[in-house]
Amino acid sequence: MLNFKELTQQTQLYNFHSHTQLCDGHATMRDFVAAAIGQGFTDYGFSPHSPIPFDSPCNIKMENVENYFHEFESLKEEFKNKINLYKSFEIDYIDSSWGPSNPYFDTLNLDYKIGSVHFIPHNGTHIDTDGSFNNFKIKMETFFNNDIRYVVDTFYRQTLEMINAGGFDIIGHFDKIGQNAGYFQPGIEEEQWYAKWIDKVITAIKDCNIIVEINTKSLAQHHRFFPNERYFHLLKKYAIPVIFNSDAHHPDLINAGRPEAISIYNNL
Ligand SMILES: [Zn+2]
Ligand SMILES: [Zn+2]
Repeated sequence: MLNFKELTQQTQLYNFHSHTQLCDGHATMRDFVAAAIGQGFTDYGFSPHSPIPFDSPCNIKMENVENYFHEFESLKEEFKNKINLYKSFEIDYIDSSWGPSNPYFDTLNLDYKIGSVHFIPHNGTHIDTDGSFNNFKIKMETFFNNDIRYVVDTFYRQTLEMINAGGFDIIGHFDKIGQNAGYFQPGIEEEQWYAKWIDKVITAIKDCNIIVEINTKSLAQHHRFFPNERYFHLLKKYAIPVIFNSDAHHPDLINAGRPEAISIYNNL
């Protein structure tokens, strides 16, 4: 695996979490490489939302995986003197049969793997709880009878299952549900039962030797990081390795929120 510790000690201009038109991003791989080089980045990783066993507009289609790898190899070769490029997936944990530990992902020769939860199981289907609060609100009513406790509990249960199943290097935005849940029910992240989930997740992470991403994509719009800044001291206390990723969906945003997060973290 990539030596993230060494790499992130040498440079702050890296990003290992990004999306292009192959999934729900808004530009080509080449546009992102040009932006990364333009901003002086030394290391840049592509991480399309992984293939999953059902239709989703946000995830790469299985039939496009070859195209992704082909374009990746060609860009890597073309820009090898300017930037280090890496291929990955942000792999969705769906259930015990599909997630980062699925052997399929080991056959792809990825440089590293991100494991993330976006979907909540519901009556044999899977509901994407990521995305805008407006959509989330509609889904809460349509599928979950507005039971926010169920959705949050299930999100963190899925997260713990994913950690236990393993097969990934970096855990993506491990408290992502906090944003929409916090809009749905302000103050929810301060509640004791919610804090207990965070404790459990951080304990599981520390025992598994995985890297926590500090995801900076929502700073400008939602004034928060994932995980929430209030947990940074716990990551430090347990000496959990962290990296700072922008989760960019647009080339202009490849460094968005990263300098702020790095500065806050390093000054703790
Ligand atoms: Zn994600
Ligand atoms: Zn992402």
